[in-house]
Amino acid sequence: YQAKATTEAVVLYERHMSERIEREVVIAGRLQDALTTGEGLQLHAQPQVDLRSGRLTGAEILLRWHDELIGRISPGDFIPVAEERGLIAILDRFVIEQSCKQLALWHEQALALPGPLSVNVSMPLFEQDDFVDWLQACMRRHQIDVSALELEITESGLMHNPAQALSVAERLRQCGIALAIDDFGTGYSSLAYLKQFAANKVKIDQSFIRNIDADERSQTIVKATIHMVQELGMKVLAEGVEREQEATLLLSYGCGLGQGYLYNKPMPLDEFATRWLGR
Ligand code: C2E
Ligand code: MG
Ligand code: MG
Ligand code: MG
Repeated sequence: YQAKATTEAVVLYERHMSERIEREVVIAGRLQDALTTGEGLQLHAQPQVDLRSGRLTGAEILLRWHDELIGRISPGDFIPVAEERGLIAILDRFVIEQSCKQLALWHEQALALPGPLSVNVSMPLFEQDDFVDWLQACMRRHQIDVSALELEITESGLMHNPAQALSVAERLRQCGIALAIDDFGTGYSSLAYLKQFAANKVKIDQSFIRNIDADERSQTIVKATIHMVQELGMKVLAEGVEREQEATLLLSYGCGLGQGYLYNKPMPLDEFATRWLGR
């Protein structure tokens, strides 16, 4: 009986596995097509604001995908597939290229962001030998200033190969391209490492911000993080600010920057320009 139950469990497990893999293969195939045509892919932007005044300081680009066959899929579902199936670097290049194009267009229309436009960069792209050269060439091609973009790298990504990440970060710093550490607090980086790292900004992960006013442990962690980051000479931004109480508390800790539904959800670029760039 024991053996039979185990066999059944294995069969069930394998069926789930193959269904999961099948879905992944379908998503990857459709995504690959989308990345060559651009069809169904849309850049959204979410404002980053000065917590005190509510004024815009910058924005983060977040990719949205609506596939004709599969329907709408969230980044939480397609980004991991892109990572697993070797498409993430292509995806990130697509997003960076489109972002540069948009910045050039806004510039033409005399619309300006008060700060950099942030794009998420995955480790596979960050670690490609030609990444920094490619990025510089891309910005040159679209005639945008190096200060117009900021790259977000997750803390856990950085810790994947710290030595390599440090050297890329140093090259970016020399080129004048800003770097932000994303999802900070979830990636187990050491303080010694953070001290060496040439980042301009640290984004505290939203899991620490959610209901922070009712959670003393989060308060302690966030307070300490804000002070440490600022002592190290970097800017600090709180992700996932949803409620006024959270913003008030963050301000009292000296955190000046925030991003979250309280200010706006990510929205299509046209809408973003109308609402936030005063077009
Ligand atoms: P992330 O870079 O940490 O982006 C923040 C995520 O939190 C976004 O989810 C955003 O919509 C969401 N968010 C913002 N404010 C709030 C809030 O107040 N409450 C809540 N609950 N959520 C909030 P999204 O757009 O679903 O993206 C998820 C993740 O997918 C991103 O996390 C990023 O890691 C990845 N991603 C999205 N676009 C790209 C891309 O172009 N390239 C790469 N490599 N990754 C991307
Ligand atoms: Mg991000
Ligand atoms: Mg984040
Ligand atoms: Mg994230």
